[in-house]
Amino acid sequence: MLNDARKPPHACLPEDILAQYRSEADGLSSEEAKVRLAAQGPNRLPAPPRRHPFLRLLAQFNNALIYMLLGSAGITALLQHWIDTGVILAVVLINALLGFIQEGRAEQAMEAVRRMLAPMATVLRNGQRQAVSAVELVTGDIVLLEAGDRVPADLRLLNCHSLRMQEAILTGESVAVGKSSSAVDAEAALGDRSCMAYSGTLVSSGQGRGLVVATGSETEIGRISGLLSSVEPLVTPLLRQISEFARWLTLLILVISALVLLFGYFIHHHPFADLFMAVVALAVAAIPEGLPAVLTITLAIGVQAMAKHHAIVRRLPAIETIGAVSVICTDKTGTLTSNEMMVTTLMTDLHHYRLTGSGYAPEGHLQQDDAIIEPHADAWLEPIAAVISLCNDACLHKLDGRWNIEGDPMEGALLVLARKLGRNDDALRRSWPRIDAIPFDASHRYMATLNHDHRQHACIYVKGAPEVLLELCSGQWHPDGPARLDREHWRQRYEAIAAEGQRVLALAMKPVSHERTALAFDDLEDGLLLLGLVGLIDPTRPEAISAVAQCRQAGVSVKMITGDHAGTATAIARQAGLEKPETVLTGADLDQLSDGELMVAIKTTNVFARTSPEHKLRLVMALQANSMIVAMTGDGVNDAPALKRADIGIAMGRSGSEAAKEAADLVLADDNFATIVAAVREGRRVYDNLRKVIGWTLPTSSGEALTVIIALLLGTTLPVTPVQILWVNLITAITLGLALAFEPLEARTMQRPPRRRKEPLLTGTLAWHIVLVSSLFPCGVYGIFSYALDQGYSIELARTMAINTLVVMEIFHLFFMRNFYTTSLTPRAIAGTPIVWLTVVLVTLGQFAVTYLPLLQRLFGTEAVPFTDGLVIIGIGAASFVIIELEKQLRLRWAQLRSPK
Ligand code: ATP
Repeated sequence: MLNDARKPPHACLPEDILAQYRSEADGLSSEEAKVRLAAQGPNRLPAPPRRHPFLRLLAQFNNALIYMLLGSAGITALLQHWIDTGVILAVVLINALLGFIQEGRAEQAMEAVRRMLAPMATVLRNGQRQAVSAVELVTGDIVLLEAGDRVPADLRLLNCHSLRMQEAILTGESVAVGKSSSAVDAEAALGDRSCMAYSGTLVSSGQGRGLVVATGSETEIGRISGLLSSVEPLVTPLLRQISEFARWLTLLILVISALVLLFGYFIHHHPFADLFMAVVALAVAAIPEGLPAVLTITLAIGVQAMAKHHAIVRRLPAIETIGAVSVICTDKTGTLTSNEMMVTTLMTDLHHYRLTGSGYAPEGHLQQDDAIIEPHADAWLEPIAAVISLCNDACLHKLDGRWNIEGDPMEGALLVLARKLGRNDDALRRSWPRIDAIPFDASHRYMATLNHDHRQHACIYVKGAPEVLLELCSGQWHPDGPARLDREHWRQRYEAIAAEGQRVLALAMKPVSHERTALAFDDLEDGLLLLGLVGLIDPTRPEAISAVAQCRQAGVSVKMITGDHAGTATAIARQAGLEKPETVLTGADLDQLSDGELMVAIKTTNVFARTSPEHKLRLVMALQANSMIVAMTGDGVNDAPALKRADIGIAMGRSGSEAAKEAADLVLADDNFATIVAAVREGRRVYDNLRKVIGWTLPTSSGEALTVIIALLLGTTLPVTPVQILWVNLITAITLGLALAFEPLEARTMQRPPRRRKEPLLTGTLAWHIVLVSSLFPCGVYGIFSYALDQGYSIELARTMAINTLVVMEIFHLFFMRNFYTTSLTPRAIAGTPIVWLTVVLVTLGQFAVTYLPLLQRLFGTEAVPFTDGLVIIGIGAASFVIIELEKQLRLRWAQLRSPK
């Protein structure tokens, strides 16, 4: 023992290692775990160092546009145009601050999302199985592993059932390796320590149980670390494209500015200093410097809003795609249904029982034809109680007066049944300990255990899908000995139960010799006896029903892909409101179809039953071949390829394996179908807002620039001075320019069909809108400018009216952009949002200040605008709104005419 204490865990025998870590076979007590946690610290790897905020702020100045602006500020300073220098520097500073704030916000959003994904571990504490956050693990804890789990700490395995691990993260070896609990040589290399499961590796199949021997930075992964991923920067392909676009646009604007400069100097012979100032103003106005930052904020807000709806974005590009989803492929159990299972049917060869009760409380009766039956009177129920208690990994316990289950809800429901049958599952488990097991797997669809009692008896217990078990069973259990099995009769019985929407399980057993200590698939091929069937109800979620209806309106089709029986699947599909629930393809049918045939069949089929995870991949590809954008849900380790292939892979946060979560783009914290639809809605909102931000920013900046260009090309008086343009650009960029990032969902967004796969962000409609509005701005500005001069006003007053017209038109344009797809003339549209009004008030205050405050009048060369002319300015803004609204109405009507649906 003393000797063992110096041996590494992999060289110790399983019996000794428990003592070495002062633990027990049934785990630590909660108190002891608390004490150890305080001493050892949390089981997490140290976070990577963060960049100092000052460095982050400095980094904002490191871009080509800022250099150009700083250069211009330098030249204006040389020319002693101090106000211009000040305004340009203000633009630079505000731009950097905006970038800095958005980056901080985005990082916070991602950090919060990451916290929501904190991994969990299943441990034995106080002899009971419970789920705890992986950071709370301490050495001496006993962790239960199953397929799909990510190992939460370094474990010395105590027992394993067909356990295979993916250790590539540590050893680079991509093939899964088998594990056993036998000790290995003390000198064995990491990859050869078959009795160890290392933190960060993945369970690819089987089950096991291990003792925590190292946590946090003490683990093997901790030692080689730095591997912990830092916060993902908020960059998506779309944002990258837009930044790229903005860079090219900047270049184009610089070239145009240079040409205008040359033209003005050589053709119109303007004085260089004035000309240079005008060109700088033109460039600053035209370059949408704030655009990338505002778009990033739009995405960050989307990530946060989705998290509020329980949809956690794991991979950022998903947020761009999710709104475009045209088909959602969903699981049934727990997603469309509530996964609160209860056994309501129990069928033996002689009897058809019903069970009463609710939830997981083991209170209820066994009934036949409405008469209560005493369970102990029926000899058939004895072995049934044994199989449902022993071939079962769940635990049932009472906490604060409420019955809870730990583990698979279906298995929990079986434990409740055992209690309703008057049997104590704990006592049964103590008197018939498990020796070996074949864990449940979606590919074989059953679970089997080998149990011994302490009196030289042994038995194999099996539960699983009825058609699989009926094939495996060679006879029918009977109190007097094995009897003949009438498969057709049983088939009719389970189909009848399934047609009621119940999940059906068959139960079977096989007495074996006490000598047998291992269980293999071959052992089930001969001598298995059918005991009966159980039917479980799992109510459809009411919110899923309305979410399916919403999908229908939004042109998103919903397909159910389940491992369950076709009858059960059809019944639940009907309850959930799926289209054509009676057209079902089973996994076996899918195997018969060629890819081409599947591509056709999938268009009209919405229910896929008895599928295995491999089928999901084929289904995703068939849907994508039909140009659909596919969201696919999954929970098991084998679902990972389909989740990766789907446009949006969605994993279940509660019931899903770590492997599925890691392959997914989106994790549902509540496993609920309605959450997927909420995410689609949010995705559409985010994408619309990206478009709206672009649709507002680009015409505004090019409109401002055009105003200057026209004057320079025509050689006429500038209707707005360079410093005034800079001012407008500054004040609107930090107010109006941001408002659209926060826009709520536009009316009827979920009544529009999803956008097409290849639809660009800048659609033809949006591009046309940009051209139209860009040309309206100079019309408004020159219109008011000539009106003012005609009235005999001073040039200063005419210019003041011109810049105010520019700003008023921008405000009206903002209200227009809020409803780009529907009319802007509804009370809701006009009422705006608090943020819209806040920005409007701020910008109005700014304009009043520049128009009426003497100090600013002197700085910006402005004059007070008379009240009636103020009304004319607002009238021009309103007129521009009417023009673009009329154009929109014509466009919408035209679209309606073209698609009479
Ligand atoms: P759903 O879409 O309803 O979530 P699924 O795809 O998760 O279904 P599986 O969990 O693969 O379905 O289950 C397929 C079938 O395997 C079930 O209908 C049931 O008959 C059987 N089964 C499920 N879980 C177990 C288990 N723990 N032990 C034995 N058999 C099981």
